[in-house]
Amino acid sequence: TRAYVEAVEAAGALNAYVLATPEKALDMARASDERIAKGEAGRLEGIPLGIKDMFATNGVRTTACSNIIGNFVPPYESTVTSQLWRDGAVLLGKLNQDEFAMGSSNESSAFGPVVNPWRRRGSTQNLVPGGSSGGSAAAVAAHICAAAAGTDTGGSIRQPAAFTGTVGIKPTYGRCSRWGIIAYASSLDQAGVIARSVNDAALLLGSMAGHDPKDSTSANLAVPDYEAAVGASVKGKRIGIPREYRVEGMSSEIASLWDKGAQMLRDAGAEVVEISLPHTKYALPAYYIVALAEASSNLARYDGVRYGERVPGRDIAELYEKTRAAGFGAEVRRRIMIGTYVLSAGYYDAYYLKAQKVRTLIKRDFETAFADGIDAVLAPATPSAAFGIGEKSGADPVEMYLQDVFTVTLNMAGLPGIAVPAGLSSEGLPLGLQLIGRPFGEEGLFALAQ
Ligand code: GLN
Repeated sequence: TRAYVEAVEAAGALNAYVLATPEKALDMARASDERIAKGEAGRLEGIPLGIKDMFATNGVRTTACSNIIGNFVPPYESTVTSQLWRDGAVLLGKLNQDEFAMGSSNESSAFGPVVNPWRRRGSTQNLVPGGSSGGSAAAVAAHICAAAAGTDTGGSIRQPAAFTGTVGIKPTYGRCSRWGIIAYASSLDQAGVIARSVNDAALLLGSMAGHDPKDSTSANLAVPDYEAAVGASVKGKRIGIPREYRVEGMSSEIASLWDKGAQMLRDAGAEVVEISLPHTKYALPAYYIVALAEASSNLARYDGVRYGERVPGRDIAELYEKTRAAGFGAEVRRRIMIGTYVLSAGYYDAYYLKAQKVRTLIKRDFETAFADGIDAVLAPATPSAAFGIGEKSGADPVEMYLQDVFTVTLNMAGLPGIAVPAGLSSEGLPLGLQLIGRPFGEEGLFALAQ
């Protein structure tokens, strides 16, 4: 823990942590030593972790990287993090992210962008680590935490994992409790892990997962031994390659990475077959309706009265307006406006309801593939390698939304997905592949990912 605490301080230029908690870390490590001495070590005893700032941590400032709750110190602990501490893990601090987890580059954070520890060969340009769990991914890649907890609403664990050469798993919706995680889009949000190996990801998820009576959407299922699944044989598994994921303009680099991944699975004894997921092309636009609608509703609570920052006004309406204009960043304001629009009386049927129907069709595509005997789907994690800070954060927000073309589909379907490093780009940057599994089929994914 002491080595990690020093490394966190030395790597300050990455801006991966928005709050380091060195004293708390050393206290927790001492308590770990005592438990070890007494022969009471937990499965994560003494392992130093970073936690995305979406997770409420008791007595430790939690902001979702937004000014509107910039000084919030929760008097409670999220279920997922409390399970990590129950098993002996140590908190190094809170990790940077896009504001309210809205973004794909970590550039919308009120605490400024995170620097990806990777650079293009021969270049000194700073690149984004992806987002929204950009701080988590950068910290794991830079060895300034042993592993990190993140959240994934539409790719926020898998895309940054792919950009940093790390492993990222988003489990099935309902596998982890959402209690104490700041809400972005409640029907899509899920906690997960970013780690340096498949085994580490399995180890952590085993602690984070499980039923929680405080979250009615958490599944009442026993948590399997994920670590045991890591080495399991994949002989005879049927892997689907969805033809609709060969999107227009896919780079040859990503296309050949995908082929290489298919070959690796064949070499391991799996059968690789082409499949069709016909509604894939509607996933991204439908996601950006459903997610923003839910966000506009979830973020209504930040009104300057009940929570966080307040800018006074002549009356209550002006207080709300001024508080929300000052407290939310540009991307969050844009999303609240779009979300409110698609939920408003004249547009609800045309946008929100239509998107919900599309969501059902996307889910059915996968159900059909699984019913046909497909065990998992193999796809790219991202359309490109990491890009430069500032390169895609210009006037057209759709540029950034297109980053999520491969990742949002499984959030819409509630399915688990894991991103694994699978090669380097011509410029020497990590590239990731993604495996998508059956509902609550995380064990199978760990075996295939390994
Ligand atoms: N990039 C996506 C978005 O901005 C996903 C974010 C997430 O998974 N939290 O909505």
